[in-house]
Formats: sequence, C-alpha cells, structure tokens
Amino acid sequence: MHRRKRYKNECVFSIEKLGVNGMNVPKEARTYCPKCKVHQAHTVSLYKPGKRRALAKGERHHKREKRGYGGQKYPLQREFAKTTKKQTLRVKCKVCGYTRHKDGIRLRKLVIG
Ligand SMILES: [Zn+2]
Repeated sequence: MHRRKRYKNECVFSIEKLGVNGMNVPKEARTYCPKCKVHQAHTVSLYKPGKRRALAKGERHHKREKRGYGGQKYPLQREFAKTTKKQTLRVKCKVCGYTRHKDGIRLRKLVIG
C-alpha cells in the first residue's frame, strides 16, 4: 500500500489527545508548511469529496465492467458495524497557498471554528 510521506512536527491539533465522540478544531492554526519549510498560519476546513462525474473515464469503465452475469467484482457492504465516518481536514497555508490533507480520524461530530 502506498503511504504518504510523513513530516516531522505534524501534530498540530493534538488529534489523538482529544475526545472520542466530538472535537472542536480551530479555524486557523499555526503549523508546519512543507513548501515554506517553516511553521505558518493555516486555514482549516473540512474535506468533502467532489461530485462523481458520470462521463469520467473510470466511471465509464466501471459501468462497462459491471455488465452481465457475475459483473459485480466486489461484495457490496450491506450491514454496517461502524457508526462514525472518518473526517479529513484540509489545511491551507496562508503564505504560499499550499493545501494538504490531515489524516481522517473517526469522529461523531467535528466542529470547526
Ligand atoms: Zn506555505
């Protein structure tokens, strides 16, 4: 599996130390920017995946692969054990505009601001 490169001093919000169910995240945080190579002010927002485009190459390929008898290639998840979803944070450097994602952790509620 491909792992993203980890940087030193990456823990800003001390995600691991905070509560299990809910978490408050500041709108702005001073953290390490890999592009500037120093700590800079960052704006923090919640990452949301974009809308799927039906005519994208992968979508067309998937649709074609799924056709016919035995077309489903992986078992569909029907019963869910987890009650939470992983939330990913987007941090944007205010100086150079470099945006990166913070690893998502399971949270019932995430409040930014
Ligand atoms: Zn920067």
